[in-house]
Amino acid sequence: MEFRYLEKAPIKTTDQDPFESMMARFDVAADLLKLDPGIYQYLKTPQKQIIVAIPIQMDDGTIEVFEGYRVIHNDVRGPSKGGIRYSPHVSLAEVKALAAWMTWKCAVVNLPFGGAKGAVRCDPKMLTKVELEKITRRYTANLLEVFGPERDVPAPDMNTNEQVMGWIMDTYSMHMRHTTTAVVTGKPTILGGSLGRVEATGKGVVIVTSSTMKKMGLNPKDTRIVIQGFGNVGSIAAKEFEAMGCKVIGISDVSGAYYNAKGFDIRQAIDYRDAHGGVLEAFSGGDKISNTELLELDCDVLAPCALEDQITAKNAGKIKAKILAEGANGPTMANADPVLAEHGITVIPDILCNAGGVTVSYFEWVQNRMGYYWTKTEVFDRLEHILSEALKAVNTKAEQYKVPERIGAYILAIDRVAQTLKLRGIYG
Ligand code: NAD
Repeated sequence: MEFRYLEKAPIKTTDQDPFESMMARFDVAADLLKLDPGIYQYLKTPQKQIIVAIPIQMDDGTIEVFEGYRVIHNDVRGPSKGGIRYSPHVSLAEVKALAAWMTWKCAVVNLPFGGAKGAVRCDPKMLTKVELEKITRRYTANLLEVFGPERDVPAPDMNTNEQVMGWIMDTYSMHMRHTTTAVVTGKPTILGGSLGRVEATGKGVVIVTSSTMKKMGLNPKDTRIVIQGFGNVGSIAAKEFEAMGCKVIGISDVSGAYYNAKGFDIRQAIDYRDAHGGVLEAFSGGDKISNTELLELDCDVLAPCALEDQITAKNAGKIKAKILAEGANGPTMANADPVLAEHGITVIPDILCNAGGVTVSYFEWVQNRMGYYWTKTEVFDRLEHILSEALKAVNTKAEQYKVPERIGAYILAIDRVAQTLKLRGIYG
């Protein structure tokens, strides 16, 4: 198929900044939608960008000040939703991009949520549990008037987990003087977390990828999978692909990449990782290869589930996979999009592919507000339904506008947000 957008609105190539990378796709979709210039301006601008100082007394008695961020990109469709990331490299530009992505992601899966993202610039590996708890509680206390079940609802992201969400819920509840479970999602189940939340993102990656494989006539038994990143998303996706009968021939994490032509035993890899401080370092289940080699392996599905900007204009042409399933947020730079399209690679874009997490987060919020909890089967059935509908809607837009799936997803999302905005009107 020839893609109309390639010649119509060439993708910018100066997109080292993740916000620019997001905007490059936004611009293409907005142009095709003939978006009103005022609405374009409105949707481009984050509604709030907050920077907070987090002073902490460390275990050795010294005081350190960390920097925290929360960006509310847009809340016209409902309370803003988005994870919190702890990383020494995080910047406001990155958080802004991730917040906008959340607006589009929630709209793609048609959840009644807007988009936000938060972060604390810290290295959790260098912190004790007590220091992490202090950082989390102070960050939450600084953002008390921002967070709330009807306002802004955080969730886990890189280097944050159930325990961190539990501390956020407790800190918020202490200040509100009553237990407020719905202020945060991704909590431990005993604190009101939903069954299935931990598996949701990885499972979602596999739901949309397996539908796409079916459409392309790929039989799971003959399908070779490569996964970059072996954390929450990557390892669970690997387990689900293996359970479907696929062969997972490549896995990687921060310690390195591994190849096994016969397919890894994923249970063994997960057990190894868990017994070795969360990394595959020196894992003997396959041959050690480089990250570059991993991305360029001969395979059917490549699922980047680690970091941003892994697929670039330079390496996109060397990717041999038929399907690129974006488990991570922003793993593909905007200037790689045309190269992937020219090579006929089907992309399941991040805002659809990893939306299983936010969808089950939505279920958690719903269950907290009802005070009535679903079984895991109910959660996964509803997840499958929502993601299948979203995949169909994205493919329909892509076909209608003759654009790759990513631009189809942006068109779907921007149109839904713009329609909501038009009907609500501009106050002021
Ligand atoms: P995680 O911290 O559990 O795992 C990240 C993995 O990436 C780890 O295995 C880590 O070793 C690996 N990694 C780090 N640097 C790497 C490198 N240079 N090369 C290869 N691997 C590297 O995080 P996660 O929750 O699995 O999130 C992964 C991605 O998925 C992120 O982009 C995140 O934003 C996105 N995401 C997560 C969720 C969720 O529910 N957890 C939801 C949507 C999107």
